[in-house]
Amino acid sequence: MISYQEAVTAICRTIKPLPPIRVPLADGLGRVLAEDAHSNLELPPADNSAMDGYAFALDTVADGCLTEVGFLPAGEQFEATIAAGQAVRIMTGAPMPAGCDTVVPLEDTEQLGNNQLRLRKSLKRGANVRYRGEEFKTGEKILSCGQQLDPAAVGMLASAGITHINIYPAPRVAILSTGDELVELGETPDKGKIINSNAHLLAACLRQDGFTPMLLGIAKDQPGQLEASLRQGLEADMLITTGGVSVGDRDLVQETLSSIGFKTIFWKVATKPGKPTLFGMIGNQPVLGLPGNPAASAATYALYARPALRLLSGHQHPLAPRLKVKLGSALKEGGKRLHFLWGTLEVVSGELYFYPSHRQGSGQNRSAVGAQALFPLPIDSPPLAVDEMIEVIMLSLPQEQQSS
Ligand code: AMP
Ligand code: MG
Repeated sequence: MISYQEAVTAICRTIKPLPPIRVPLADGLGRVLAEDAHSNLELPPADNSAMDGYAFALDTVADGCLTEVGFLPAGEQFEATIAAGQAVRIMTGAPMPAGCDTVVPLEDTEQLGNNQLRLRKSLKRGANVRYRGEEFKTGEKILSCGQQLDPAAVGMLASAGITHINIYPAPRVAILSTGDELVELGETPDKGKIINSNAHLLAACLRQDGFTPMLLGIAKDQPGQLEASLRQGLEADMLITTGGVSVGDRDLVQETLSSIGFKTIFWKVATKPGKPTLFGMIGNQPVLGLPGNPAASAATYALYARPALRLLSGHQHPLAPRLKVKLGSALKEGGKRLHFLWGTLEVVSGELYFYPSHRQGSGQNRSAVGAQALFPLPIDSPPLAVDEMIEVIMLSLPQEQQSS
């Protein structure tokens, strides 16, 4: 049995990004750039005013006074020539009139009547002027390959005149639930049957992470049907199965996968939950077989599927960040496998605490609801007391401060 670290390393070594595609900029949100992005233009296109105010030549001001000789809104040019001591009323973004080098904001001027104004403060030459090309020059690299596009990045690319970009596509992920005991949500489970909740869990995980789920439904624990369903999953960029990867008589997933070209990279990891996790490839397609127990499916999604999908998506740092925090409630000693505990992160008097969820053993995932981190309690760890420093795997952002 391999360790969690070995399992993650194997995934990182195996999975390569999907082939890039070219898309309109608007479709790039959340995706990773597959090329450096270079500006198509210069920004700002000309020296311009950073404020609503008056543009003038600083050296020509006499006794702090200026004469207003014109008005210039953004989007227009000032064609006339400015003489000494003259100023143009200028709006933010309007190009600097020829001969002017400084802008005084409206609120720093005093109107004296008769088109005369006085400067209320002294200014440096160039104050409140944005210079041509200050943001970027034509051809300048503005984002690097590997950058995930957030709204600000999309806006910046638009400002640089970039209409289309090369990105790594969002992986399409086939989800196959296996088990004779499963029925779909909405059906009434007869005796001994349970609802296929894992498909909903995993589809929700995928959607939240920006990936595209393809639901293949339920396959019975029967080789023929299992094979047909697994083959449907070959159309996706990655295949995730749940159930049927343990050592039970009806655990047929690995064997059936092998009959359609699957090569095992690892099976069984020394963790709790998640021991029977299976990972391998069918050609270029990664396949993860997650244990069927919903709590194990949720944990192994976060531990293995998410990093695998981030690798396919072109992320250079696929693993969730780890954070040193204080333990909020005492824990019993560790066992023979790395034990992942769900918990919340809470700020208490300015310090971040991890509170392990109740009912960690629940097969039904209750402890994962609302959790923001997983704590890997080390093998053979001694009991841990409140306030001990521990390192947790971040899943989402901390909660607001506790009221108590
Ligand atoms: P398995 O990994 O197939 O041995 O299943 C382990 C446990 O998880 C069993 O109690 C199953 O009934 C349950 N289980 C398996 N698949 C699902 C599923 N898709 N949704 C909910 N529970 C499941
Ligand atoms: Mg099963």
